[in-house]
Amino acid sequence: MNEPDPEQDVPPEVHTVCPLCGGGGMIADPKQAIIGGEPRTVDNGRACGHCATDGHFPGIVPPV
Ligand SMILES: [Zn+2]
Repeated sequence: MNEPDPEQDVPPEVHTVCPLCGGGGMIADPKQAIIGGEPRTVDNGRACGHCATDGHFPGIVPPV
């Protein structure tokens, strides 16, 4: 009963870093590609669909 609930105490400016992209908004997306006749790994990254490239969520979001 006396334990403070951390989720009750959060100021509105607190963000939770996106666990999927680590806050960068992009996630690695390595692919095999043939470039100039040689197989290479291309990593252009792609937009993180979890946070819509924001890299964070408002407030505290518990990991699922
Ligand atoms: Zn993300």
